[in-house]
Amino acid sequence: MPVCKKGMVKMKTDLSSLLPEELRIWSQSRGFAAYRGDQIFHWLHQRGAADFSEMTNLPRDLRQFLDENAVLHYPKVLKRQESAAKDTVKLLLELDDGRQVEMALMLYTRQQSKNRATCCISSQTGCAIGCAFCATALAGPGRNLLPGEMTAQVLLAGQEARKLGFEQITNLVYMGMGEPLLNLAALRQSIAILNHPQGLNIGMRRITISTCGLAPQIYKIADWGWPLGLALSLHAANEGLRRSLIPAAKTNSLRSLLAACSYYREKTGQRVTYEYALFAGINDDIGAAHALGRLLAGRDALLNIIPANSVKETGFFAPKGEIIKVFSEILSNYNLEVQVREPRGLDIDAACGQLRSRD
Ligand code: SAH
Repeated sequence: MPVCKKGMVKMKTDLSSLLPEELRIWSQSRGFAAYRGDQIFHWLHQRGAADFSEMTNLPRDLRQFLDENAVLHYPKVLKRQESAAKDTVKLLLELDDGRQVEMALMLYTRQQSKNRATCCISSQTGCAIGCAFCATALAGPGRNLLPGEMTAQVLLAGQEARKLGFEQITNLVYMGMGEPLLNLAALRQSIAILNHPQGLNIGMRRITISTCGLAPQIYKIADWGWPLGLALSLHAANEGLRRSLIPAAKTNSLRSLLAACSYYREKTGQRVTYEYALFAGINDDIGAAHALGRLLAGRDALLNIIPANSVKETGFFAPKGEIIKVFSEILSNYNLEVQVREPRGLDIDAACGQLRSRD
């Protein structure tokens, strides 16, 4: 590590977390042409370069300068798993400090419309929220991911998608490990990078943030004014039950969350998705279905029912198919768009709530 005259350790700049305009300023302020910043961005966010040595159109002195003064936080792939159906890939990634996160890629081949490749990325190395049913919670709180550590997951997913015959990542969900709204600044920067026309250029409408429900932060992302998808993990229409499942519900009442979601809808023009994981014997009875219907009726909502994915340590299970059917039929009568999420990658523990660090 370079050391300054006064003996202080010089911090290297994380270039993988910067936008082209920031890279241009960085480059210029260090005595290199501004357009070198655009070239670096192109190498990182279009070509997926993991190292400065790959940036062959940069002059040698710049590459040496980069080696000495900058870093890229490109994760290392420790393990790759592919589902038997070849429609889901999960990567276990190691970050520079040795911490681990998982990323899942889901591929959908469609007859009528374009194929879809959805990548589900992690925003933290663990999770401080502690939802009773979730595998990530088992590891406890982790650290926030840097913007570049999030964008790299999408680049790696793109490489995996191409291996399986898909052209590119079409959709992106912040539904992997961690609570994205507890890492707001990095979340925002990662989206700006992924949406940038000089990078992957993923449309805002194709990006969804999933949250356990932190009302003040929902207002903040609404004020970004970006047409991002927002998914709220509801899982119960009853305050007491919700608190027992999601500890953050103690300080974020259903009322405050629904008000925040209405504000989000107004500010961004985007319809909010409500996620409801169905846990056998806990929130899957007819009374719970009607309570949920009453709560969401008239909200122009999309309801996503997620039959619980099993995490052996937690003891939560999906109800039988018949119960899932009855539950979703009741909700359809409340004038909501209801979808039952089809589990993907169960054989490789890549479905919702199953991502975790393996250390
Ligand atoms: N922290 C964010 C995003 C991560 S989890 C959030 O809470 O929304 C993504 C989704 O999977 C959330 O709706 C979460 O509640 C759900 N989930 C977690 N564990 C699950 C499980 N075992 N079965 C089904 N869904 C689960």
